[in-house]
Amino acid sequence: MISGKNYIGSQQSAKGTKTYTTFNPEANKENNFTFFEATNEEINDAIELAANAFKEYNTISGSKKAAFLNAIADEILALDDTLIKTYCSETGLPEGRAKGERGRTVFQLRSFADLVADGSWVDATIDTAIPDREPMPKSDIRKMNIPLGPVVVFGASNFPLAYSTAGGDTAAALASGCPVIVKSHPMHAGTGELVASAIIKAAEKTNMPNGVFSNLNSSGIEVGQQLVAHQKVKAVGFTGSIKGGRALLDLAIKREEPIPVFAEMGSINPVVILPKALKNRGEAIAKTYAGSVNLGTGQFCTNPGLILGIKSDDLSNFTKELADTMVAMNPSCMLHPNIVKGYESNKSKLILQEGLQVVNEYKSAVKSNYASQVITTVSGKIFLENPTLHQEVFGPFSMVVQCKDSDELQQIISQLEGQLTGTVISDDNEISSYSKVIAALQNRVGRIIFNGVPTGVEVCPSMVHGGPYPASTDSRFTAVGVSSIKRWVRPFSYQDWPNDLLPDELKNENPLHISRNVNGEQTLEKI
Ligand code: NAP
Repeated sequence: MISGKNYIGSQQSAKGTKTYTTFNPEANKENNFTFFEATNEEINDAIELAANAFKEYNTISGSKKAAFLNAIADEILALDDTLIKTYCSETGLPEGRAKGERGRTVFQLRSFADLVADGSWVDATIDTAIPDREPMPKSDIRKMNIPLGPVVVFGASNFPLAYSTAGGDTAAALASGCPVIVKSHPMHAGTGELVASAIIKAAEKTNMPNGVFSNLNSSGIEVGQQLVAHQKVKAVGFTGSIKGGRALLDLAIKREEPIPVFAEMGSINPVVILPKALKNRGEAIAKTYAGSVNLGTGQFCTNPGLILGIKSDDLSNFTKELADTMVAMNPSCMLHPNIVKGYESNKSKLILQEGLQVVNEYKSAVKSNYASQVITTVSGKIFLENPTLHQEVFGPFSMVVQCKDSDELQQIISQLEGQLTGTVISDDNEISSYSKVIAALQNRVGRIIFNGVPTGVEVCPSMVHGGPYPASTDSRFTAVGVSSIKRWVRPFSYQDWPNDLLPDELKNENPLHISRNVNGEQTLEKI
């Protein structure tokens, strides 16, 4: 079923000679399939086809796009065990996780289907004319969101379904009316091809224009760079490393026509544990956090990599309990030998920093591609002085920082780079004595959590998965939830345009019966 070929629209294509395979980290061996890297010609063909498809797809009704998105969800489910087995063989992740992620992917597609079927997401805003206004008459002006054009999506290694081929970025872009070209992630190219085949089948079944979706294979940075540099590409979605996201942002800005890059990148997700909470339930918090740091072998962008507290015996006891609980857990498999290499080298680099102590680490030998978990600790002063300690270690690693007092805690938070999340663990009303700390945290993160863990990102309209740079390249947007559709559109105004030539969303009769803002009032009424 897996051919290793690219999808240039509905056509499978393998014109190149450069090939690669994926790797099964659990079995520590290469998988059997061979993938053909996309050639310059194939890249160009996919973009030209997408630009052409945009002319039609851009005008397709919300209900037809909803049918397409629901059909993608159905086709993904129809892949059944083949998809689950391929996912597991390319990631080392267990079947339960694969099924959970498939459920999330399908849920996201159906949520976007509901959103565009309803249609109100376009934010239609109408200011009717005032012909007798003095000293000048006022025109009739009507605004709505319209799609940008072909979008290139770079999937995440750590979410082969929910943030890859038909993941959040793709679902949002297709829902908005933008064709998508996926730069397939080389670590899960087979999973990617299966999902791509589901999207193509769905596009054919629902009569979408050819080129609305393409999937290009590549195991190096060149294909992605060419895609981002192409003048007919109008926006980019990316999930991965800061290095990769930043390189693509720089490339997009240097183009003759710069385009937006919505990259969701690294984060160490600071957790502040307040003194009373530590005293009253330090042991329970430590156990919960051992599970959160170790979840998915620490390969989540919301992994709590930094825990902050005020120096005390309670903090020391908590740190020891956290480290011992973590080390007592069985090590687990990482996604790929390269991710293990990155983990081991980043971990070693940090452990060598002056003043950082290892509280406990898993010392027995681990299987190939498994990660040994570590908890470290450092003083607030040393953490403040050494920016290397602020870097993400992608894996089952966390650092407890012992701050001198709440001023130092606030100073540390203020100096952190932008983060996806910040968490506060508090007992009784003690949080009210830390308003400056909380304000500093709010300034650095996209989502703040009370008495919980940052891992586990709910997919719902109120979710913000983003944050100040480098958590994301544009903190005004979220990468999770239906409002992520706003990344792929631009506002557009019609002035004094004839009613019958306006899109349905803006017509006087409100034929789609959507919620609109008319002369300052939100309403479903016609004009
Ligand atoms: P990555 O190395 O950033 O790669 C993501 C995608 O972007 C891949 O398809 C990659 O292509 C492409 N890419 C990377 N750099 C590029 C460049 N300069 N120009 C064009 N394309 C580029 O991320 P990853 O493979 O998912 O994982 C590697 C590391 O990223 C992890 O060890 C971890 O540190 C970090 N990561 C962080 C998060 C997070 O949410 N915080 C999530 C995932 C990964 P090729 O692979 O084909 O080169």
